Amino acid sequence: MSLRKRISLRNTLAFRLTLWYAGIFTISSCIAFLLFYMLITSWIRDRTDQELLDQVNRFSTLLAAEGVEAVKNGAVIEAQAAGVKKVFFRLLSLNGQAFSSSNMSYWKDINVNGTAIKELLRGSNPVYENITIPDRKEEVRILYALLSRSIILQVGQAMESYSRFLDAFKGIFIATMTLLIIIAAGIGWFMARRAVSGVEAVTWTAQKISGGTLEERVPVKTRGDEIDQLAITFNQMLDRIQTLLTEIKEMSDNIAHDLRSPITRIRGTAEVTLTTGKSLSEYGSMAASTIEECDRLLDMINTMLMISKTESGVDKLSREEINLQGLVREACELFEPTAEDRGVTLSCDVPDGSHLVGDTRMIQRMLSNLLDNAIKYTPSEGLVNVSVSEIDAQVVVSVKDTGCGISPNDLPRIFERFYRCDQSRSQAGIGLGLSLARAIARAHGGEITATSTPNQGSTFTITLPKFAKK
Ligand code: ADP
Repeated sequence: MSLRKRISLRNTLAFRLTLWYAGIFTISSCIAFLLFYMLITSWIRDRTDQELLDQVNRFSTLLAAEGVEAVKNGAVIEAQAAGVKKVFFRLLSLNGQAFSSSNMSYWKDINVNGTAIKELLRGSNPVYENITIPDRKEEVRILYALLSRSIILQVGQAMESYSRFLDAFKGIFIATMTLLIIIAAGIGWFMARRAVSGVEAVTWTAQKISGGTLEERVPVKTRGDEIDQLAITFNQMLDRIQTLLTEIKEMSDNIAHDLRSPITRIRGTAEVTLTTGKSLSEYGSMAASTIEECDRLLDMINTMLMISKTESGVDKLSREEINLQGLVREACELFEPTAEDRGVTLSCDVPDGSHLVGDTRMIQRMLSNLLDNAIKYTPSEGLVNVSVSEIDAQVVVSVKDTGCGISPNDLPRIFERFYRCDQSRSQAGIGLGLSLARAIARAHGGEITATSTPNQGSTFTITLPKFAKK
């Protein structure tokens, strides 16, 4: 079932993003329209008021120059010229009585506003008024102004042409907005789908992986955006998981293999003794070989546990002041008899006063593993040398031998658990010594590296900070 079908459309991120996008677009457009509309209406009002004031000024001048009769005639002529449905004039006495007017047949609904007259007489000159004629739903702007001390002019102007303009403006805005919102929603949907398609790809891959195919990877586009970053990180995580799983598989194969051999040997010895053994000494030697095999198994299991605990930090390191000179010398003395048995010359080169803060028992174990290997993999008449030097705040311990060496193919893998090079299979060992050495070095905040030339020898170098981190 497709992912999109499974999540109902309304719950998809793309749908919600589109809704937000279209919503924000609509709201901001409406706000812009309202501001624009208010600006236009105020501009229209100012313009109309100015026109009305111009009329007043003209009639005041006319009154002063030619008298009231000229004003009466002028009002009739002016109204006719502008259109009797557009403008009207009334001349009023101070008590609001009309004594002359232009053609008022179209404006008979408009009376004289007593309150406006009172306001005018109180000193606010001119006074404006807005009237809507109910039958015609037509708006009229009216101005009252004193032409002289005894004459008031009432002049009105129809706002119809402006109303028509505003209605047309509204109509065009609504039509354009509807179209734009549809286009914006379409673009929003397209962009949101494009953005979440990468997330869907990751989800798809995760689903396929949960179905059992860990080889799946999310296709990475070349846009270099956040989604690509997510895909790259997701793929890297899968690579890491896959490597870990392969390592775990290899390790469990190795454990199974290494457990099977001693158990088969124990069983074989027991079986032979049971069927053929008669004397007490035969049973005694069976018990001895069983103990030996069990010790080997226990050693392997304990080493594995120690590696895990050291790597995970479950066992906290003790932080003691270690006299490295003494520690290395002790280790060399301990391995001297083994080296002698094998005809290997063991030497050590440690400057006085080398100190280190760390876990003595662990460092001892790490050194022993390296020395044991160096002697084990060096033929008789070979040399093994341990040297210590200090660089800045670090201590460098090198274990160098002139042994069989390690091939370039094996070198990168020798620190893996249970890894043993083919040429060393004749020697005793379980392939855990170097893994433990590396875990110990890292637990102290250091590292261990190896260089080697086949048939010439190897050098293992441990670098440790003098003061291990807590
Ligand atoms: P093992 O128990 O086999 O010695 P290690 O983990 O200590 O296990 O070493 C892993 C492998 O690395 C060994 O099996 C061996 O092949 C190789 N190796 C380690 N040290 C040396 C060395 N000094 N010279 C040559 N090969 C070595």
